[in-house]
Amino acid sequence: MSQRQASTSHRPDPVTYDLLREDSASRARLGVIHTPHGDVPTPAFCPVGTQATVKTLSPRELVELDAHMILGNTYHLYLRPGADVIARLGGLHRFMAWERPILTDSGGFQVFSLQGLRQVDDDSATFRSHIDGSEHHFTPELVVETQEQLGSDIAMVLDECPDPLDYAYNVQALRRTHLWAERCLKAHSRPDQALFGILQGGIFDDLRAESARVLTGLGFPGYAIGGLSVGEPKADTQRVLDGVIPLLPKDRPRYLMGVGAPEDLYDAVAQGIDLFDCVLPTRLARNGAVFTAEGRMNLRNARYREDGRPIEESCTCYTCQHFSRAYLRHLVMTKEILGLRLNTIHNIHFLLRLMETIRQALAEGAFLAAREAFLEHYQVADPLARMDNRQAWRANPRSRG
Ligand SMILES: [Zn+2]
Repeated sequence: MSQRQASTSHRPDPVTYDLLREDSASRARLGVIHTPHGDVPTPAFCPVGTQATVKTLSPRELVELDAHMILGNTYHLYLRPGADVIARLGGLHRFMAWERPILTDSGGFQVFSLQGLRQVDDDSATFRSHIDGSEHHFTPELVVETQEQLGSDIAMVLDECPDPLDYAYNVQALRRTHLWAERCLKAHSRPDQALFGILQGGIFDDLRAESARVLTGLGFPGYAIGGLSVGEPKADTQRVLDGVIPLLPKDRPRYLMGVGAPEDLYDAVAQGIDLFDCVLPTRLARNGAVFTAEGRMNLRNARYREDGRPIEESCTCYTCQHFSRAYLRHLVMTKEILGLRLNTIHNIHFLLRLMETIRQALAEGAFLAAREAFLEHYQVADPLARMDNRQAWRANPRSRG
């Protein structure tokens, strides 16, 4: 009916989703997202390039790892070097020499995580830069304009990100999030960019359902689920997804923001999520932790000092094909830059291959068997180690990325 008439009537949609196959035993689905910079087979994981770089990796390495889409951070690029600067240099793709699709977040999460957030009203969120303390106002219109300057394939609406457990706050924040979603849609005009809506509502089923109703009524070409994986109990995350996914249209992609632990990816795919982003693989790598089929491996551990084996014998990444655990441990202990790079290559490779395995299993109608086979061997990290980057970011915005 009124799908996207507000902003893009009579224009072809720049980003569309094809549902290829639904799993018969879960809500998982195989699909593809078409964007102006190419196709993204889904379910897909997007490495995060906060400052117009996936930390330590070159775009060529990301292509070799076969990352289909990466994420850029509006808040950070707005502050440095400035979206206008990037626009004058030909847009974010050219600026960072990345030719495949880019998704930009709206900056809402970062702004609402800042301790210096001074004021939020229906017009804007006023905050102080974590870099120099300067004051800024994010309005829905400014956030849309900034992302249009960046030229990402997929832009996100400005949303208010409250504590997921505070009901009264979530009621207020949701009203504002919906108001802002409508203003973002009205402001959005770039024909080669899609604008996705973001559902909020914390862990509360009634608010999540309300958010789905309002946002699907506005008609976005894709829907993100925000405000989860921010420290709430995992049972709440699953219950919210369970309730809200059936309320979203099947012909639009669904994006779960900030999730990247392997076991969480399997769980969310089973619920019908198509798209993920998370700094977890890159941040863990820089801390000397790498993914394996058995769980996380901390290369700082003394037991690897003379271990001549690769991180994983079966891994085909450049790191595992050439280097031993002992060498990687040495690089980590001596804080050598190459260590950060090699660990990052392995971790991104691990998650991208995990998603490939998931897609393959979906194509063969064997998703739940693949999930079971994975979880049988994978030791889930303890709750403290699981602590998401988002909580770390709240503690220290400079650590983000
Ligand atoms: Zn490897």
